[in-house]
Amino acid sequence: MGKSAAIIGAGPAGLAAGRELALAGVDVTLLERDAIVGGLSRTVEHNGYRFDVGGHRFFTKIDEVGEIWDDLMGDDFLTRRRLSRIFYRGQLLDYPLSVSSTLRTLGIWESLLSIGSYLWARVRRVPEDSFEGWVTNRFGRRLYEHFFRTYTEKVWGMPCTELSADWAAQRIKSLSLWRALRDAILRRGDKEATSLLRQFKYPRLGPGMLYRRYAEQIEQAGGTIQLNSPVTQLRLDGRRVTRVVAEGPTGPLDVEAEEYINSMPLADLPLRVRPEPPEDVLEAARGLRHRSFLTAALIVDEPDPFPDQWIYVHEPDVRLGRVQNYRNWSPAMVPDEDRCCIGVEYFAWTSDSIWSEPDEAIIDLAGRELGKLGLIDPASVMDGRVVRMEHAYPVYDPGYDRRVRTIRAWLAEVENLQTVGRSGLHRYNNMDHSVLTGMYAARNVLGDSHDVWSVNTEEQYLEKRSQPE
Ligand SMILES: Cc1cc2nc3c(=O)[nH]c(=O)nc-3n(C[C@H](O)[C@H](O)[C@H](O)COP(=O)(O)OP(=O)(O)OC[C@H]3O[C@@H](n4cnc5c(N)ncnc54)[C@H](O)[C@@H]3O)c2cc1C
Repeated sequence: MGKSAAIIGAGPAGLAAGRELALAGVDVTLLERDAIVGGLSRTVEHNGYRFDVGGHRFFTKIDEVGEIWDDLMGDDFLTRRRLSRIFYRGQLLDYPLSVSSTLRTLGIWESLLSIGSYLWARVRRVPEDSFEGWVTNRFGRRLYEHFFRTYTEKVWGMPCTELSADWAAQRIKSLSLWRALRDAILRRGDKEATSLLRQFKYPRLGPGMLYRRYAEQIEQAGGTIQLNSPVTQLRLDGRRVTRVVAEGPTGPLDVEAEEYINSMPLADLPLRVRPEPPEDVLEAARGLRHRSFLTAALIVDEPDPFPDQWIYVHEPDVRLGRVQNYRNWSPAMVPDEDRCCIGVEYFAWTSDSIWSEPDEAIIDLAGRELGKLGLIDPASVMDGRVVRMEHAYPVYDPGYDRRVRTIRAWLAEVENLQTVGRSGLHRYNNMDHSVLTGMYAARNVLGDSHDVWSVNTEEQYLEKRSQPE
């Protein structure tokens, strides 16, 4: 066929595009900034203990993505029964929230008040221009305050009044108190969605195991993956990209190809193009924000302090937002039967002081906060490792959609450049959506015509969840 393609980023989207193209005989080169593949879905190894950047559940309603994952993983794809709870007012509540545990935690009087506040919200609707308005109209003010506000504000680092309603609409589109109660009482609901919620798949050695297999297939089919090679420039000639320039481990790398697929953040892409795009496009890119994510993986001298895979922590008096127990994701993640690996997760802006604290201080804080919650004895923390991810959550703040539209309109004029993935589209995409966008872009190179931007905008792709992952 003789076609060539360069792909920026070897996370799920870039690897999915690369695999599709390499298997079709395209001469493909992936340029990856970091030393490993997998992007946000990597698995980090520390002294034999493995952990994710946030536990990564595998579930999908997209058959072709699921089939590829099954093929690549074979017997190494475990099916895990899910246990995750919410830490709220010193208690652990079932998550997804059940009527009985909610009643138990709130007590009869507060439950009645919450129902009253829900009924009030049905008659006195508030404007739905923010996350707060959107949720209040569907759950009532009191339940919003109990179960949505604190954790959502921890994740996004801004008042829920400033978070766009788009995020709620994308994540919890058809969920409301009325529907939740009706389904619980009549024991009905979407059976497929319910079973997806109760179990998930997980590679024996974490998500990185799957993405390494993608990488192996690409290389076996003749493709190249250049690690430690951040792309610094895309050169444009008229309406076509002519080459990308990266800082390779041994000096500058120049890659020329006929087609280019990007999965670095949409916020970075226009800023790296030469000659520079118009000022309004640069301004739109500078205005897109990401919430960053920091995990402290603690090696603890206890076998299994809690049975959950993860716990959402709503308590306002600890800085941490979520806790993982990696043995419960897969026993093979932990090399020692008597110890465990607990991931303590913090959501942050890169300007927050926690972001630039030394690793030892963060490990110490994580141990103390787990002790405060009564989940472990801080004295049993033996070792730890901190990982920081800058572009973890594309922020849906006022004006983000206008900025994305501006960049998208400019990109549409560039004939041989497509953008894919989570940060690449500035959309809250899970792995399966990210992978599908990569596959679509690759197939477009091969002559199809898919709309990459349409992925994860339709009801069929959505899972109903009220807590940001
Ligand atoms: C805390 C957390 C938990 C999550 N949990 C789940 C879950 O349970 N299930 C699920 O399905 N999804 C989950 N996700 C989402 C999942 O991580 C993403 O959908 C997926 O990793 C996105 O893939 P991507 O390739 O688009 O982007 P990324 O994973 O961000 O990969 C992009 C790649 O591009 C590279 N790159 C960036 N800039 C450059 C540059 N200039 N030059 C070269 N390379 C560059 C990066 O190093 C990275 O490797 C979670 C995400 C987070 C943050």
